Amino acid sequence: MFHWLRDHRRKKILQEPFPVQWQEILEEKVRHYSFLNLEEKDRLQQLIQVFVGEKKFEGCNDLKVTDEIRVVIAAEACMLILGLPNDLYPGLITLLVYPSTVVVPPPQQNVFTQNPFVERSETAIYGQAFHRGPVILVWDEVKRGARYPESGHNVVYHEFAHLLDMESGSANGTPRLHSRDQYRTWAKVFTEGFLLLRRKSDKGEKTFLDSYGALNEAEFFAVATEYFFDRPMQMEKKRKALYDVLAGFYQQDTAGRQRRSKNDD
Ligand SMILES: [Zn+2]
Repeated sequence: MFHWLRDHRRKKILQEPFPVQWQEILEEKVRHYSFLNLEEKDRLQQLIQVFVGEKKFEGCNDLKVTDEIRVVIAAEACMLILGLPNDLYPGLITLLVYPSTVVVPPPQQNVFTQNPFVERSETAIYGQAFHRGPVILVWDEVKRGARYPESGHNVVYHEFAHLLDMESGSANGTPRLHSRDQYRTWAKVFTEGFLLLRRKSDKGEKTFLDSYGALNEAEFFAVATEYFFDRPMQMEKKRKALYDVLAGFYQQDTAGRQRRSKNDD
């Protein structure tokens, strides 16, 4: 019954054409959108339409939520699930958007908001994700990440990777994979990658992935996801095994896509 309702509602949402203004926002503000082929662009637009139709965006600290905010955030959240049979982050209802980096008071803990991820530090955050709770994002940081994607930092990719991780039942750095073989390879490659990052960052050595990923396995997956989408060609070159398992999970060849787009330029 609920399924039918939802599908019916989604069909209705998708009967509306994708707004021209939204198209312009994607082209001007979301650099990764230009890397997609036509089919992927179509699929992303559909996901965005439903995402914006279903999720509640709340502006905090006097931030007025505009179409630009909705579309940029939805585009990046949906970029992660472009190749997945994901039901548009079913546990997520509300996104809280702050204008710039802020100190966010810890929300009250209850059974629905376990496992909060407090990013970077407790005093200044760029984003936070809660299991079956809200996602908190800082708009300044989102905007920067969308426009300059090759930094390797993208708070939307990071937080929504946490959501995919949590959908598997526990936030342990392993999302729901597609086969038993994949779990085996994933465990091997991710353990090796995580321990390498931890060893290097403990010694204060330069690391390919941000050393924030050495905090725990969940952060490692979120940080690796940021690199997989932001710096895929470098990742393919330097961390081939990690790139391959992520490509297998996300069902996207982000490096190939970036190469094609660079050749077209
Ligand atoms: Zn995190």
